[in-house]
Amino acid sequence: MRTMSTTNATNTANTANTGLLDEGTKGRGGKPGRRGVPLSRRSFAFGVAGTCALIGLGGLKYLPSKPLCRPPGGQDENHLASACIHCEKCREICPKTAIAPAHIEDGILNARTPKMAFWQGWCDFCENEPRGPRCIEVCPTQALRSADAASAIIGIAVLNRDWCLAAKGMGCRVCVDACPYEALFVGDDRVPVVDESACNGCGACEFACVSMSAGSLSVGATDKAIVVFSQKEKDLL
Ligand code: SF4
Ligand code: SF4
Ligand code: SF4
Repeated sequence: MRTMSTTNATNTANTANTGLLDEGTKGRGGKPGRRGVPLSRRSFAFGVAGTCALIGLGGLKYLPSKPLCRPPGGQDENHLASACIHCEKCREICPKTAIAPAHIEDGILNARTPKMAFWQGWCDFCENEPRGPRCIEVCPTQALRSADAASAIIGIAVLNRDWCLAAKGMGCRVCVDACPYEALFVGDDRVPVVDESACNGCGACEFACVSMSAGSLSVGATDKAIVVFSQKEKDLL
């Protein structure tokens, strides 16, 4: 559900993993530089061997790139993947601890790029910071580009009724009360409903959701009952 590959992403991944660029052509962070000069056959053979080893280890599933929830200004996946140098300055500066590095399970191209970590914090778009979103401000390559924080959309919250305590008649409305943007309301059946026109994916609801707390775990639940998906992820639901 959270996996998606694009032709560009796959092609880029294949290029990166077959070693078609030598060290002299790579930019900071090991990313391919602008010139992209072809390698010697020996280095190319090593690259092919590495790719075969990766596939032999079951690594093929990691080659496609997943669409992830990104910090404000990082919603252009292609731009982010090509410009991010994995310095983690955005993660370090975030006052809400809402950013974590993506892992290889998120796709090779995404590894160590920033993704939202709503299990440990949520994004208030640095509304009280005089210069706006700190993550955008400190990014040295503009992988996170200036965004109008007031109109930035990180993603959209999606409620899973099977795992929601309110849907079990337990009267929960923690997420509704946590939403700073009035994008959640209680429906006629007492279960929260997401107003997608008002939701900006801040993650306050996911951060606050108590569905995974001790004693309230739904059978088969692997995540919270309300989760923020990027727009691309949601399109695949
Ligand atoms: S805008 Fe602020 S709170 Fe949101 S992810 Fe960036 S640094 Fe964190
Ligand atoms: S992500 Fe959750 S808390 Fe944030 S605006 Fe959307 S519904 Fe409200
Ligand atoms: S906080 Fe979680 S369990 Fe409670 S109503 Fe919201 S989604 Fe359901």
